[in-house]
Order: sequence, then structure tokens, then C-alpha cells
Amino acid sequence: MSKKIPRWLGFDKQSDYVRTYFFNTNMRASIHMSLIVIVLEIWMIVRMLNQYFSGQLPKPFSYYFSNYLIFYIVLLSSGIFMLVCALLHIRGKLKRRWIGTLAKWLFAGISLYFGIRISIGDYTKGEQILTFLTMELFVMCLFVWRPFVGFLILTLTYLFYVSRISGIAPVSGAYSVLSKLSEYTPEEAYEKLQAIRETRGLSQATQINLFTMWLSTLIISFSNYHKTLTQALKDEHLEEVNAYLNKISVNDELTGIHNMVFFRSEAEKLLGYITTDKENIVFLYFDIENFKYYNEKYGFHEGNELLRKVAKMIDSAFTGSLVSRLSDDHFVVLTRYDGCDEIIRTLGAKIHEFQREVHLELKCGAYRPMQEEETIDPSVACDRARFACNSIKKRYEQTFQMYDKTLEDRFHLKQYIINSIDTAIESGYIKVFYQPVVNTADRSIVGLEALARWQDPNYGLLPPGVFIEILEEHRLIHKLDQCIIQQVCRDYREAADKGLAFAPVSLNFSRLDFELCDIVGYFEEKAREYGVPQEYLDVEITESALSDQQNLLQAAMRRLRQDGYKVWLDDFGSGYSSLNFLKDYQFDVLKIDMKFLSGFSDNLKTRPILQNIVNLTQQLDMVSLTEGVETPEQFDFLAKIGCSRAQGYLFSKPVPIADLRERIDKGELHVNARYTAISA
Ligand code: C2E
Ligand code: CA
Ligand code: CA
Repeated sequence: MSKKIPRWLGFDKQSDYVRTYFFNTNMRASIHMSLIVIVLEIWMIVRMLNQYFSGQLPKPFSYYFSNYLIFYIVLLSSGIFMLVCALLHIRGKLKRRWIGTLAKWLFAGISLYFGIRISIGDYTKGEQILTFLTMELFVMCLFVWRPFVGFLILTLTYLFYVSRISGIAPVSGAYSVLSKLSEYTPEEAYEKLQAIRETRGLSQATQINLFTMWLSTLIISFSNYHKTLTQALKDEHLEEVNAYLNKISVNDELTGIHNMVFFRSEAEKLLGYITTDKENIVFLYFDIENFKYYNEKYGFHEGNELLRKVAKMIDSAFTGSLVSRLSDDHFVVLTRYDGCDEIIRTLGAKIHEFQREVHLELKCGAYRPMQEEETIDPSVACDRARFACNSIKKRYEQTFQMYDKTLEDRFHLKQYIINSIDTAIESGYIKVFYQPVVNTADRSIVGLEALARWQDPNYGLLPPGVFIEILEEHRLIHKLDQCIIQQVCRDYREAADKGLAFAPVSLNFSRLDFELCDIVGYFEEKAREYGVPQEYLDVEITESALSDQQNLLQAAMRRLRQDGYKVWLDDFGSGYSSLNFLKDYQFDVLKIDMKFLSGFSDNLKTRPILQNIVNLTQQLDMVSLTEGVETPEQFDFLAKIGCSRAQGYLFSKPVPIADLRERIDKGELHVNARYTAISA
């Protein structure tokens, strides 16, 4: 209640929005008002000049000028001033708002003054108070005044007006006396006239009329104010909601910097403006290497904290540029090329400040549009920058990579792979190559690793290093693995039908296979379809697969082993915490990564490490296999320390099954007696 009255009278404090709203309303209303006044006053001036020059007006020009024309001209000027201010405001060119307010007050003041003046003139001519009222209504109803201001203007002008006309208006009844004057004797008439002269003043009826008009004008003015105020508050609220919605729709919730919706739309606008000098802009893609481990080690909360810090760091390093978070630990920037390498270098050094036990590195890929590129799609540009960034992953201390011709070719190849995997499978471009696994005791073949090759009509023979990662990234890898499973089963069937030698084949499963399809179901179905016994099919799972999707993977592995298949741990020792996995999962074969052999001749530590791993596998009841065996020394050492199996170029590279048979036939390789011939 205590707030309602001041508010009703317009004494409350108003927001900038509401004040601007009133101002705008007044400026819009004043266009019509001032136009009417301008037209009217021009007409008055022309009419008076015309009358004067045609000799209808007897008095000297100075009389008309000082009594009429000057006022018309003043009113006309205030109308023009008002109109100009209002138009400038609407075009957004009126920088100082007080000028508009001044125009409003001047215009209102002058209009009211003229209303009063002319009405008084009219009054003496018996034309009553029309102009006064018109002006009063005009100014009070079209302009929005705070109620107390409206009240003051109205009351003061009414009082002023009333006081002025009281002196000239005869009281009611005076006219009736005057009209009957002829009925009196001259003495009586003189007395009556004297009496009328002394009883000037407003009659009661006129007073009541004026009061009623004052009141109604006041009410209209108040109601106008409150209607506009309600509308303004409603609009203000809408505007706030809108601003909030805009904010959350363009900002990344976690880091507070912009999101990709904003980035794309702003980048498009920006690129639209730039016609020349396109080469001076650059798209940057940032990635925090090892963020995943950081997140795993310190938890979600700390991970988010790190993202916020990095976002802030990048955002403030590129002030004035477009900076957004794309997803996870990926950020994109659209900025000027000049000087950006220096900033990136600084950022690359700065990120070490945030690292704890997990080593963090900032990787940045960049894409500069070519001058001849007609339209630049921000999404494609970001994709290329990301591609450049991904090409330097795991390259220690290389922070920056520009998207260049070599990468461009690789980028195209990548697009090609994604688009053509289905065709490649259907057309039989995907082939299985086999690499033998030998027994260290007698060098006989006891297994074959199935390795995928893509024999492409355009690109030639593509090794898996080229396409596996891409297919995984685009979640298409299961298609390839299913294709390999089918071919291996078919190769087995063919050998069995012909009574030829065939050894157990180990298949590489991607960790994504378990997510993307029921790979175990498919695998068992194909084995049944081609009649492949369990002992002829093994599954290799890499160490890196074990770190995520634990439940799915654990269940799949259990199922495979229950159904009689052997599960191998591939690439042992290539990643982080391998020993933990040995505790949590049961494997039949442990495949020691080839990186242990790469330093074989000069790193003296390699031998005891290998020896220990082999001992461990024996204790854990697993078969040990070392891959990447290239020299007889390596092989002899492995045989000596009790590693049961070996695989590597020393025996054979991965080759098509026919080539392998040829070498076996030539006696270069021999198959273990268990597998020399399989019966159908
Ligand atoms: P991997 O499973 O560790 O396969 C062993 C890789 O080492 C093969 O490369 C093989 O050619 C190579 N290699 C074998 N012996 C030697 C050697 O003595 N010296 C050297 N330097 N290298 C040797 P490849 O065939 O290029 O395969 C690369 C990787 O691609 C594989 O690593 C495997 O992770 C993946 N891959 C291959 N085929 C498939 C597949 O059908 N499905 C899935 N999911 N992944 C596959
Ligand atoms: Ca493998
Ligand atoms: Ca391996």
C-alpha cells in the first residue's frame, strides 16, 4: 500500500527501460502533434498575410505582427523543432536525449500558452474556451506525463486561465439583462449596466464546467500514463526473458564463453563482410591432451574446473575475436592470422600451470581460408582445423599445426573412407591379410592374426593405420570388423572343404564394437553358419579398450570365454595401467607390445623387463606372445626366456592367404602338426 500511492502518482523510481519507453512513446506522439500544429500555423500565417495584403485588415502591419503573427511564428518554430527532434530520434540520430525532452517541454508550454491566449481572445468575442480546451487535451492526452507532472501542468494552466477570464466574463444573467435593456428607462439602464460591470466573474455553471473538464483531462492523462506504464513494464519483462533466453542459447553453460550456435552464426556474418584479405583470418581448434586422464584421476568436478580455467585463458588471450567451446575439451577461435602463433605459443606454455600429476598439453590446429575460396563454411573450416590438430596428437611438445596440402589430401582421404566404407565392403575391397604366429620351440605356425586391408581402386592398398582410427571416430568400425569375421569364417570353410592346413585365427575387436552392435552374437552366428570350431577363433582386445565401457566389455568377455573362445590381451604395456587389468580380467594370451623390442639392441633394461613379463604370464596361467619380432637375436632371446609364441616380420609380414600357402608349400614356413590338415 505504502508503495502504491507514490507509484500511482508517478513518484516511484523507474528503470532505464521504462524511461526510454516513455521517451519513445512521446517522440512518436509528437510527430503527429507537431505536424498538425505546423500545418495549422502555416495556414494561419498565410491567411493573415493574404487578408492584410488584400486590404481587408485596416490596422498597420506592426499591429498584426506583434499581436498575431509573432505568436504563430513561435508556435510554428516550436512545432518544427519538435518534429525534427522526433524524426532524428526515430532514425537513431538523436544522441542527447535532453534535447528531445527540452523540445517536448517547449512545445507543450508554448502550445498551452497559446491555447490560453487565443481562448481569452475568443472569449471576449463570445467564442468561449474552445482553443484552450483543444490545446489542453492535445498536450495532456498525447504526451505521457508522470501523474504529478500532469496534475501540476493542468492545474496551473487552468488556474491561470480561470483567473484571466474571470476579469472579463460577465456573470450569468448579464446577457439577459443586456438583451432586455430597451425595456428600461435610460436611468434604469445605466444603473443596470453599472451593476453588470461590477459583477464580472465566472458564473457557477461555467465554474462547474471548467472543473469537470479539468478533472476529465486529468483522468485521461493519468490513465494514459498508467496504460503506457503497464505496457512498458510488460515489455520490459519480455525483454528480460528474451535477453535471458538469448544468453543461454548462445553461451556455454559450463564455461560461460560462447557456444557453437553463436560461433556459427557470428562467423557466417563476419565472413560475409570480408571480401578481400580472407587469408588474414584463421580458424583455430584447441584440444587439451590428456584431459581424459585428468578427468579420470581427479573426478568430474575438478575436470570442469580445469575446463573453465582453460576457457577463460583462451578467451582472454583472444579478446575481440570469436571464441567458443565446441564440446568436451575442444575450443574454436576465429581470429586474425597475424600474431596468432605467438599467442598460441604462450597458451601452450601456460597450460602447464594447470597440470598436476597428469601431464597436460595444449594442441592447436589452424585453418586459413584461401583467397580464392568464394564461400567459407565455418563448420567445414573448424573441421579442417580440428583435423590439423588431431594430426599432432601424442607428438610431444608440438603445439601448433597448420592445415596444409598434405593434410588436405589426408582430409579428403578421410572423407572418402567415411563415405565409401559400405561400398568397399559390398564390392569386396576389404581383404583379410594373415600374419603367422609361431611357436618359439619349433618355429611352427600355431596361429594367424587377421589384419584388415583396403584394396581401393582409387587409392591402392590402404593399411589399417589409415582407416581404423577414422572408422572408430565415426563409429563405423563394427561394419569392418563384421566383414573381417565373415571372411575369416569363409576362409576356414574353404580350407576345411579342401582338407588344407589352417591355424587358429585371432581377430581384432575394437572396443566400440561392443557398443555399436552385438559383436559377440554376430561372431557366434557366423562361426555356426560356416561350422568353425571354437578353437579356431580367438579374440584380441587392446589394452586401451579396457579403460572405458567396463561393464559391457566384461560381460562380453565372460560370454566369449564361457562359449569356449580364447580372449587375448593385445598391445600389453603400450598404455597406462596394464597391471590393473590383469587383476580384474581373465585373459588366455598376453600379447606383449612391439615397443618392448624396438630398443632391444641398445636398451639394456629391455631384457629384464621382458623376462619379468614372461614370468608374470606364467604365474597368471597365460600364454605369452611377443609381437614385432624382426631379428634372429630377438627371437633367440624370447625363446631363451620362455616366451611361448612370437610374431613378426622375421617370419612373415601380413599377407593374403594364398601367398601364405605358397610359402608353406615352398617350405619357407611350416604349420604345426596339430593344424596341417583340417577335416570338414
Ligand atoms: P595390431 O593388432 O597390434 O597389429 C599388429 C601390427 O603390427 C600390424 O599392423 C602388423 O602388420 C604390424 N607388425 C607385425 N609384425 C611386425 C614387425 O615385425 N615389425 C613391425 N614394425 N610391425 C609389425 P597393421 O596390419 O598395419 O595393423 C595395425 C593395427 O590396426 C593393428 O594393430 C590393429 O590394432 C588394427 N587392425 C588391423 N586389422 C584390424 C581389424 O580387422 N579390426 C580392428 N578393429 N582393428 C584392426
Ligand atoms: Ca592385434
Ligand atoms: Ca598388437
